Amino acid sequence: MNSDLMASLFVFLFGAVVGSFLNVCIHRMPREISIVTPRSTCPNCKALIPWYWNIPLVSFLWLRGKCGRCKRPISVRYFLIEVVNGIFWWFLWRQYGFSVEFLTSLVFFSMLIVVIVTDFETGLIPDQITIPGMVAGLFFSLVGHEHFLQAVWYQRLLASALGLLGGGAILLVTGWFGKWVFRKDSMGGGDVKLLAMIGAFIGLKNVLLVFFLAPFPALPLALWQRFVKKEETIPFGPFLALAGALLFMYAGPIQNFIARLYGV
Ligand SMILES: [Zn+2]
Repeated sequence: MNSDLMASLFVFLFGAVVGSFLNVCIHRMPREISIVTPRSTCPNCKALIPWYWNIPLVSFLWLRGKCGRCKRPISVRYFLIEVVNGIFWWFLWRQYGFSVEFLTSLVFFSMLIVVIVTDFETGLIPDQITIPGMVAGLFFSLVGHEHFLQAVWYQRLLASALGLLGGGAILLVTGWFGKWVFRKDSMGGGDVKLLAMIGAFIGLKNVLLVFFLAPFPALPLALWQRFVKKEETIPFGPFLALAGALLFMYAGPIQNFIARLYGV
């Protein structure tokens, strides 16, 4: 096997292993169960899952998506998250090679995956993701990556902190405004902390773009939810996360596109 293929496989498998940990976070964080203890159990028969039934990718296929003891089906989501995270890691590695940008994007994207699934499933964005996420964003800016290229470390840290405060503030103010106009809560605190975390990773200018771009894909879903399913609200977090991931990778092209749109 040539070394490029070996590295691809290694990055993909590592991503799948971390994806298996993300599954634990997705299941436990909104339910406020510790992610360290207790060990994984079958949600149906509550049996402890031995390590050989808990191998990422392999066990799900081997057991054909069923619990090894009670044979009840296990959600295909567990397998999909592992595969998707593996593919993301591989894609990010192709994009950045082994670099600070690569490491930063791994942490950022993995956290966004947890947020997207928990918010869709439970309407909650766990603080156990967004608070450490803010710290991670500040830390990686300090090391320096393509969104924070200022010469001196405290300038980079300041730029990241501005993104954090700006991202949080704009949603906080929007939420107050929404409450004032509609007389009800329109923006959750989880969204505020999520956009603050995104700002810490991509800076003030990009996080403002996330704020303006995220509603566009959310709008068709909101209309569908309102008129077809007759439900009032949709989670906004997944769209913030999606826009945040796009701005992380394609800030330059997106900024150019918008500048041309307005002829600046
Ligand atoms: Zn079982």
